Amino acid sequence: MLGHAAKLLARARFAIAFTGAGISAESGIPTFRGRNGLWKTYRAEELATPEAFKRDPHLVWEFYKWRMRKILKAEPNPAHKALAELENMGVLKAVITQNVDDLHREAGSRKVVELHGNIFRVRCVSCSYRENLKESGRVFEFVREKELPKCPKCGSLLRPDVVWFGEPLPREALEEAFSLAERADVVLVVGTSGVVYPAAYVPYIVKERGGKVIEVNVERSGITPIADVFIRGKAGEVMPELLRRVKDIMAER
Ligand code: NAD
Repeated sequence: MLGHAAKLLARARFAIAFTGAGISAESGIPTFRGRNGLWKTYRAEELATPEAFKRDPHLVWEFYKWRMRKILKAEPNPAHKALAELENMGVLKAVITQNVDDLHREAGSRKVVELHGNIFRVRCVSCSYRENLKESGRVFEFVREKELPKCPKCGSLLRPDVVWFGEPLPREALEEAFSLAERADVVLVVGTSGVVYPAAYVPYIVKERGGKVIEVNVERSGITPIADVFIRGKAGEVMPELLRRVKDIMAER
């Protein structure tokens, strides 16, 4: 399986990666589904919604600041690093991610398309104000603050610049992801349940156009039925081995 996947990647003309919460699990960031996804007594699906924010912005911000603190302590794992190296080698052209944790960029990936936003960005609910808290150097101060965050331009509430359940995806990111998928001859799918649409169309687009689908997951997913190669295992263990094999094939040329 690993050997076949490595050959497909080494031969690819335009390979892309498509990742989900599972790639960050070994960095200590809980996925939404499963036991570790609980925060206090809430399920993420109850808090990551526009309705929850309207009802109780304090509670939703408390949840997001808890997640931000967790993510700030997290580091990219060998799977994120392997994807960054595959991009450096010219094998991967882009990473399309459903994650909001910024760990692909932290690992050194340069072309990252974020379909569900970024937890370190905030935006105003009323005006066009947006801020990247990492870039403005305000992130540590921000997560400690107990008051609700207000827009410095108009005074309205700020909200996390992430896609909540029931919200549309950012158009530009979605169009970019679909256009990358249309060009791709190989997609490497890592750690996603493949049930969150429209993001999960990405591997289907590649497949429909005759491309190959490689999947790495600890269990079968919504993508597995169309996978040409399914590698069962933890991303942090499988990906460095896959990288090593791609390097071996490329060195033989
Ligand atoms: P998901 O639907 O992408 O499912 C997680 C998948 O990862 C599952 O299929 C699981 O089998 C697999 N997995 C778990 N551990 C793995 C490992 N070590 N190696 C390989 N595969 C592994 O993710 P979700 O948690 O259901 O979240 C849905 C949405 O919530 C995401 O698309 C994202 O927008 C958001 N989210 C983001 C983060 C993050 O940024 N890290 C974390 C949680 C949720």
